[in-house]
Amino acid sequence: MPELPEVETVVRQLNSAIANLKINDVQVYFGIRNQPEQKSFISTLVGKTILKVERRAKVIIFRLSDDMTMVAHLKMSGKFFIHLAEVKPDKHTHVVLRLDNDKQLFWHDVRKFGYLKIMTNLEVDDWFLNKNFGPEPLLDTFTPAVFKRQLLTRKNAKIKNTLLDQSVVAGVGNIYDIEALWLAKIHPLRVINTLTDSEIELLHQHIVAILHKSVAANGTSSDDFLDTSKKRGTFQDELKVYGKENTPCPRCATIFTKIKLNGRGTVFCPSCQI
Ligand SMILES: [Zn+2]
Repeated sequence: MPELPEVETVVRQLNSAIANLKINDVQVYFGIRNQPEQKSFISTLVGKTILKVERRAKVIIFRLSDDMTMVAHLKMSGKFFIHLAEVKPDKHTHVVLRLDNDKQLFWHDVRKFGYLKIMTNLEVDDWFLNKNFGPEPLLDTFTPAVFKRQLLTRKNAKIKNTLLDQSVVAGVGNIYDIEALWLAKIHPLRVINTLTDSEIELLHQHIVAILHKSVAANGTSSDDFLDTSKKRGTFQDELKVYGKENTPCPRCATIFTKIKLNGRGTVFCPSCQI
């Protein structure tokens, strides 16, 4: 599932490729997860200009003219592809926006868990309030003190599950939390209120660093993540722990262990993560 670096990669590419372009036509081939229903979805979009594309947590935000916004969530397999006008949609292309400059934006989603929702700017503000997303880890305002405050709202919970909670920190998922815990030498089952201040600071430092590095590598394509030009990210080559069960820890050579936590596979070193 795309996490913050993959979504950020898509947002940056969309912003540089389609900001300030007008939507001239819309085709919907599968729209059951979208909002509003198909006829209004199309009529609302046609004629609008995409002013800019932003991100909050793992949500992509298309700011449109006339005080409207379209939010998109990639969920498991959603993708946006930018094509020239002659490219034809395939069977997993659910929505096509025809734009100025002979460009097309394809919404493509094999597993169909993703969605596009169009709202007024006022409605979208409320929608985000209800989502209750935690702080953005790439912003300077995400300090070690803010991280500690957020963690202490779940002081009896295990650190691994807590990092996945989008109301604690926005955008971190199963790949980057596993990597950051290994880098900080913290066992995934540690209970929050047993963490020392220096462990929290170290974990904060590694979360921020790994997210920045992955954005610079256009994200991780361990699964099927593709950017808007159908290219894979390269950060999977940098992963030290995720997907490496039964191989030796690069730090201490102990064989990595894999456990299931809330249904999510969690790999860690039973020796140097304490
Ligand atoms: Zn180790």
